[in-house]
Amino acid sequence: MIAIKNATLVMRDHLIPEAVLFVEDGKITGFGEMRTTPIPENCEIIDAQNQFVGPGLVDIHCHAGDCHWFNQEPLEAAKYHLSHGTTSILATLYFDTPKADLLKQTALVQAAMKQPEGTNIVGIYMEAPYMNPKFGANRVNNPWKGPICKEDYQELIEAAGNDVRVWVVAPERENIESFVQYAKACNPNVRFAVGHSEASPQQIEALMPYGLCIGTHHTNATGTIINYPGCRGVCVDETVNYNRDIYAEMICDSRGIHVDPYMQRLIRKIKGDDRLILISDACWFQGSTPEDYIGVTDLCFDFQGQIAGSKLTLDVACRNMMKHTGASIVDVFKFASYNPSRAVGFLDRGEIAVGKRADLVFVDPWMNIQRVILNGVVKQ
Ligand SMILES: [Zn+2]
Repeated sequence: MIAIKNATLVMRDHLIPEAVLFVEDGKITGFGEMRTTPIPENCEIIDAQNQFVGPGLVDIHCHAGDCHWFNQEPLEAAKYHLSHGTTSILATLYFDTPKADLLKQTALVQAAMKQPEGTNIVGIYMEAPYMNPKFGANRVNNPWKGPICKEDYQELIEAAGNDVRVWVVAPERENIESFVQYAKACNPNVRFAVGHSEASPQQIEALMPYGLCIGTHHTNATGTIINYPGCRGVCVDETVNYNRDIYAEMICDSRGIHVDPYMQRLIRKIKGDDRLILISDACWFQGSTPEDYIGVTDLCFDFQGQIAGSKLTLDVACRNMMKHTGASIVDVFKFASYNPSRAVGFLDRGEIAVGKRADLVFVDPWMNIQRVILNGVVKQ
């Protein structure tokens, strides 16, 4: 048994300072204040030196880590994110990809999940195939922009099987319901997200009974329906804000480019702390950093100098969220661990509680990672 002493435990809604936590067989077996919780003999002792110890971070939407794409080098990408405290990650595949390649990438990730080094890859987030090509989904070359038909999607759905946790859809695509129904029939636990879309509230809400419960990178790559010139319309962002059962993913970069800090505070106020999810949506494009952004390490640029996604890791996203919204360390652990776990149906992690997986991170007050424990094994 491992005893982690002198820890400040980050619980879902409070802290326990000067605490000890016990780990055995990959699980949390107990915890409490040190003054009332004796440490049994023969424990392996880890001294947390009064650092914060919280649940491992859970990134449900991530395409790459460092210079490795999940669709090419999933183990390398996963290793990089593990070193930043992400103990569960959904490898995210993209709509840009023709069916044969998407099938190959799915198989590559599935093989990686079975490797010991792939322990923190816990499934696939399919940001594919049926987006609205008008909204950041490759208007010209999107191979999935034709009519939705079973011959195209059946093989992909069946190959992804239970490994896919989330399918992103644009609910306004004609015949999307047939795709959603089939995906749900093949994998009853799957969730759906609305993304790269200009769907109406009614089109989105029609898919909620099938398990649509996530807004993909909220306020990014969404349209606005204008019913009358000069009057603000309602569309995807408003629907995600309005529906209590929909989680809002947020890309929280240091400059507040993807979501303006004011918008972050607004979303937090509307959605509440139980429905916010921090994601990295990390990519790997190799354009150089424009002059205005020198020193910014969490944004990705293409060769034209345009922002092309993030280079975030969740520890950095948490730090940015604290800076932009005043969220506490308890709050950001909720946004980056508990909420994403619950959104995709992982009930065995995301919080410090007896019986949960011993996925733990040690951090300083600004979420700098000091140590990572994955499934009860010290990784760093
Ligand atoms: Zn993405």
